[in-house]
Amino acid sequence: MPFTMGAPPHFNQDGIMEDWAGIESGETQYQGGIIISWQDNQPHPLHKHANQVLMHEMAHKLDMLNGATNGHPPLHRNMNNQAWFDAFSDAFNQLNHQLQHNQKPSINPYAATNPAEFFAVTTEYFFEAPKELHKHYPLVYQQLALFYKQDL
Ligand SMILES: [Zn+2]
Repeated sequence: MPFTMGAPPHFNQDGIMEDWAGIESGETQYQGGIIISWQDNQPHPLHKHANQVLMHEMAHKLDMLNGATNGHPPLHRNMNNQAWFDAFSDAFNQLNHQLQHNQKPSINPYAATNPAEFFAVTTEYFFEAPKELHKHYPLVYQQLALFYKQDL
């Protein structure tokens, strides 16, 4: 089951999800709000600006709606769970394959951390670099277009 590769999201004792040992400047609480540090406008290794952090954490929040933070949020009725799983697991495996073979990753390699991060990072691309996402992972783009109800 290569789709389960990578470290699971890390929760601290307050139930706040810390990505990559707190490197992200946003945190998503399991049952609560999203905390974004708007003062953090330094160039960031993962995020160009606060919008990206917000979208990333929103994706985690949506992902949590059905309990498990696994990159598979509850989908709209017109969507298909198998299509979502296939699109995301193929893309996730492709990215991990690139990294394992020292190839240039198609997207931010942080997405290879686990399926939850893959969903959050591809959400950033969907809004910030949709053409790039569409070029590398057209089926993921298609699923996100249905999920976010917009085609960019
Ligand atoms: Zn994250």
